[in-house]
Amino acid sequence: MIREVTHGMEAPALPRPSKRQRLASMCSAAGMLPGLTSLRQVLRKDLRILAYHRVLQVDDPAAFAFDLNEVSASPEQFQAQMQLVKRDYDPIQFQDVLAAWNGGAPLPARPLIVTFDDGYDDNYHIAFPILRGLGVPAMFFVSTGHIDSGQPYAYDWLVYMLCRTRATRLTVPELLLDEPIPEPLEGRRALAKELLFHLKGLDAVDQAAVIARLAGAWKMLPEPHAQCRPMTWDQLREMRDAGMEIGAHGVHHHILAKLSPAAMREEMRESMETLTRELGAPVDVLSYPVGGPDSYDAQVIEAATQVGFRLGCNYITGVNRLPTTAHFDLQRLSVESEMDLDWFAAMTAMPEVFAHRKRVRLG
Ligand SMILES: [Zn+2]
Repeated sequence: MIREVTHGMEAPALPRPSKRQRLASMCSAAGMLPGLTSLRQVLRKDLRILAYHRVLQVDDPAAFAFDLNEVSASPEQFQAQMQLVKRDYDPIQFQDVLAAWNGGAPLPARPLIVTFDDGYDDNYHIAFPILRGLGVPAMFFVSTGHIDSGQPYAYDWLVYMLCRTRATRLTVPELLLDEPIPEPLEGRRALAKELLFHLKGLDAVDQAAVIARLAGAWKMLPEPHAQCRPMTWDQLREMRDAGMEIGAHGVHHHILAKLSPAAMREEMRESMETLTRELGAPVDVLSYPVGGPDSYDAQVIEAATQVGFRLGCNYITGVNRLPTTAHFDLQRLSVESEMDLDWFAAMTAMPEVFAHRKRVRLG
């Protein structure tokens, strides 16, 4: 059974997505959002940080064997969302936040930052041209080991294996899991979701061991795949040169707080070193892989500070009230593909009511 996990802000009792969707449409149709937004801005000033993973059109889900939960928006949805961001907010960069906190120019009235986690190549091929066309900057948090290797991310590969394996049982003693693998793809996706949820509770070494063991047993060792390709360093440098920001998301996408202290510090050091070498300068910001409350702690923040990071984003739902001193606990608003434009508008305007509560998928 998969539990729904709510992080960060206090969500009122009502919203299942469908109800939230209908309420958002009502508010939008009644023209309430601009008034609510203005009222809110009188009462408080927030830094909103949107969190995306993939921007992708999946025409035939049966032919797509990777994790559909990673798809945050279609190209059309993303274009409309960025047009709204440009119209209703002041899109800024983390550099602006750092400058303002260091006594530079104050932040604009409605600051908002667009971020992406992991580093999928659809970020370059699809999201980047839309962002550049509109003049909206964004931050891309990348796992350097995957940029180097071109290999799919481990959690994605796990979903792929479960969608495509000819094995008939899923046996993971570490999780007390021994279940038949259903034939229909939908059933396999549901099983993969359940497995991922429980897997993220293990320490990082055990997670990798489970995935490697299944890959060996099912003869499905990870290999580059056109449907789940990381960006290249050349693509990242091109985006950086066009005004985008690049940040860290670990080396191997391990959950930092679930590594040994030495391995965690090494992951932090290596990601900073690789990004510095490939981009020609150190980076300032990281996002913690997976990003929930259990994925980082005071030790992780201390290690991040020691290697030179100055800001850290989690994947806990919320906005950041300004002025904030939580430089390593910046909360974000996750964008999900089931959000239509009304819901997206309502979520950015009134996050306490309309933000998507995270279920299994974390950053
Ligand atoms: Zn991630």
